[in-house]
Amino acid sequence: MLAEETDAFLQFTATMSIPDLIKTKRDGGALTDEEIKTFIQAVTNKTIQDCQTGAMLMAIWQKGMNVMETETLTREMMSSGEVMSWPKEWAGRVVDKHSTGGVGDKVSLVLAPALAACGCKVPMISGRGLAHTGGTLDKLESIPGFNIHQSAAQIQRILDSVGCCIVGQTETLVPADRVLYALRDATSTVDSLPLITGSIISKKGAESLSALVLDVKFGKAALYKDLESAKELAQSLVSAGNGLGMRTGAVLSCMDGTIGRCVGNSLEVIESLETLKGNGPEDLMELVTTLGGMLLMMTGSVSDLSEGKKKISEAVIGGAALSKFQAMMEAQGVKEKDAQSLCSTHTDNYSVLRKAEHQIELKTPADGVFLGVDGLILAEVLHKLGAGRSKAGEPVNHSVGAELLVSLGQRVERGVSWLRLHYEDPAPTPDQESRLQNALNLGSTQQHTLVKELLLP
Ligand code: URA
Repeated sequence: MLAEETDAFLQFTATMSIPDLIKTKRDGGALTDEEIKTFIQAVTNKTIQDCQTGAMLMAIWQKGMNVMETETLTREMMSSGEVMSWPKEWAGRVVDKHSTGGVGDKVSLVLAPALAACGCKVPMISGRGLAHTGGTLDKLESIPGFNIHQSAAQIQRILDSVGCCIVGQTETLVPADRVLYALRDATSTVDSLPLITGSIISKKGAESLSALVLDVKFGKAALYKDLESAKELAQSLVSAGNGLGMRTGAVLSCMDGTIGRCVGNSLEVIESLETLKGNGPEDLMELVTTLGGMLLMMTGSVSDLSEGKKKISEAVIGGAALSKFQAMMEAQGVKEKDAQSLCSTHTDNYSVLRKAEHQIELKTPADGVFLGVDGLILAEVLHKLGAGRSKAGEPVNHSVGAELLVSLGQRVERGVSWLRLHYEDPAPTPDQESRLQNALNLGSTQQHTLVKELLLP
């Protein structure tokens, strides 16, 4: 900040005291645009005490924010740092997806290159795994050489040559979120609709997107356990995204089990590659084509959802998305021979990716139809075996994971192998093995679709 700007800001905040702003929200009032701007600028410039920020966060958590306040909060957070800009020729084609977090969620690895193959520019800024949910960046880092750290200029170069990249958040993007997120964590104010909305949508807004699709999950292994509360979040996100000028839609999808058959970083890369070679599981393809189809519809490149889904499906089945994935790996630091090997038809993935030292298989305890596995329990056990992290910054073991050996709806007999665990140190305990056996869901025939509802802009 320039000296004159600092003076002006100090004068401005002198007339609008932070304790008064906190009091307004604490007493259930609505904050004006100016007041929200003052608060976010003070957070960004560190002219507010942490205790004041914490008090404001708690007031917002308790009293909420109306639609206009949430939109202003999101806009001010977005403007707290660099807002990316793209060449004029890309207008209307820059798109991204955000997921609220799932188990075995490898959608981004297939969707980003599929969208690039359909002519979109996809500056996908992803996160790392925390607690039971996996992170796209950790999955990609199981590929030797894959570099998720790219500057804004490098992102633009990769988008120019390839069309998609998957990267970590840059230092300069939405600095206010970094401060607020840490204090939300410390003050138990993470689960607030306006604060979640501001945090997620401000970062997407700073990517200057033409269209955004949100995969909002509900179910046993999701943050939101029921459709109604997930829908409330989806509506808030859609409204804030559209308010910032991005065409924003959402998919409400069920997250009781896992997406696809593999969970764990390297194993999910392998399943994504299989999908890009045309052999993907139905539930993963359902999510990829629905989310991608919505984006193509929102950018106006197709006239309806079924045309969009078809286009995405053809990009995946026909191999165009696989070529984009190979090019993206090379542009992000993977050796050409490794990228080629991973993308060739008959390859040994473990010649490039590391395989866990040990595997064991669990057997079905009874006859029945396989209806899935409790995704939360599976993720919690894998987390304990080293696949995930409990605190930001902790390392993960990319080779730890699990493969489902039976398909949804498949009739199985007692004693059939249904799950292969990949582990190193520590080994699974008898208690963990029995938790996994109890997580197995055997029953009678059932139709299985993940997508439950769509919200359009
Ligand atoms: N992801 C974010 O980036 N922020 C939140 O508040 C929740 C999920």
